[in-house]
Amino acid sequence: MSGWDEVIGHKQIVDHLKKAIETGKVGHSYIFSGEKGSGKLMLANTFARALQCTEETSRPCDVCANCRRALDRNHPDIKYVMHKKPASISVDEIREQLVEDVDIRPYSSQYKVYIVQEAEKMTPQAQNALLKTLEEPPEYVVILLLTSNEQYFLETIRSRCVLLSLKMVPDEQIKAYLMEEIHIPDYEAGICAAYAQGNVGKALRLASAEDFIRVKDSAMRLVKNISRMEIPEIIDVVREVQEFRVSVPDFLDLLALWYRDMIYFKATRDPSRVVFQDQLRSISETAKICSYEGVEEILKALETARERLAANVNFDLTMELLFLLIKENMHD
Ligand SMILES: [Zn+2]
Repeated sequence: MSGWDEVIGHKQIVDHLKKAIETGKVGHSYIFSGEKGSGKLMLANTFARALQCTEETSRPCDVCANCRRALDRNHPDIKYVMHKKPASISVDEIREQLVEDVDIRPYSSQYKVYIVQEAEKMTPQAQNALLKTLEEPPEYVVILLLTSNEQYFLETIRSRCVLLSLKMVPDEQIKAYLMEEIHIPDYEAGICAAYAQGNVGKALRLASAEDFIRVKDSAMRLVKNISRMEIPEIIDVVREVQEFRVSVPDFLDLLALWYRDMIYFKATRDPSRVVFQDQLRSISETAKICSYEGVEEILKALETARERLAANVNFDLTMELLFLLIKENMHD
């Protein structure tokens, strides 16, 4: 399964984007708006691959060199705008990585695609700097602004972009799909669906990992024992999961899922919506000793670690910082 097929739901948006490519009427700037987990990044990534694919159809083949590099987040003409401060994207970051970069022609393809995640975090100055590029973009430039709330954009930005609003794909829909497609049991399908946050490809990847149960178990062992474990020992566990063809970012997402379960349980005491149903005991025990702020910190740190890995920051260092922070926050 590849390309647009991995997208369940969002039919109108997918049709719109495919048609834009087929008719050669690709816009210069799009806003993908939808809540966390609605699949913004997946759609933007797939659109970017479709634009760069050497097959030059409206769908990415996912096997050509361009697609493969894009899948590895290693395509020179698909740029992800990074930001240092978690809460804002500065004018300097927009200038350096986008405004001053657009004049450099694409290296190997027809388009040059910029993906700005959490674009609502652009400061007003950053948005104003971007505006100039939106007004007079070079013909090959396509800018994708991803946001959970497009109301934070200046009106001048919004009016120059094609607005695509995403709705959540219900977990139930993904779960049913997994059970039917690869015949995994209800409980496993539930975990995979929750973990995938609307991304069917991701759900499938985990569900068909060589030994899903073992990967899940090592994640669970880790979160349960983390306060008693030494950092090198923890890093060994993380390395081991790669043997089961589960990537480290995917593994970190599993940990995040467990912490989300925990914070949800802490707030509601309602076990019915906990994803890891067989972990209720450890979830409720940890909920007692962890503060809300602590869990928020941990979830943020997991996100940061994913970004660092994507940016090729040293693996051991990234893991060390992450797990030190988790350990620090695993108490009141
Ligand atoms: Zn391709």
